[in-house]
Amino acid sequence: MGEPRWRLVHPVRQREAMLRGLCQVCARPARTELGFVFLAGPGDYAPHDTVVTACQPPVCPPHAAVAAALCPHLAGDPVVFLAASCPLYGVLGTPYEFDAGELQALPSEGRPVPYGDPRLDWFLASQLARRLRTFTRIDLAEARALGPRARADGLEAPRWAA
Ligand SMILES: [Zn+2]
Repeated sequence: MGEPRWRLVHPVRQREAMLRGLCQVCARPARTELGFVFLAGPGDYAPHDTVVTACQPPVCPPHAAVAAALCPHLAGDPVVFLAASCPLYGVLGTPYEFDAGELQALPSEGRPVPYGDPRLDWFLASQLARRLRTFTRIDLAEARALGPRARADGLEAPRWAA
């Protein structure tokens, strides 16, 4: 693992963790008995925001507090979401335009672009985003107390709710 390099999100690792539901700290399956835990900065969302789009991969219960303590953006006091449903939404990255035979980078909007959007025709994605659809807000102690997902089917790979 080593020292976290916060500004340099590794696109392949980010994608792998987001796609497969792996903890952003330990890369093990993050799914709990009640869903996935996502963290956001204390100022990222208003208390009653219902539209939450995550680009930070989930965390497993033991690592929720670790990520909160180490990540400057979370400032030790993150908003903690417990999501029962979090389908793939789109990607964050750099839009491009193809004009007069040249490809040119455009400024990023800083927000994920949803799948199906025509802007994705010319786009270099760097982070995968999920939309939290069915979620509650909990605190770090509640996150830590969550148990792992019951593995009645014997599958190690997590399945993400669609
Ligand atoms: Zn972990």
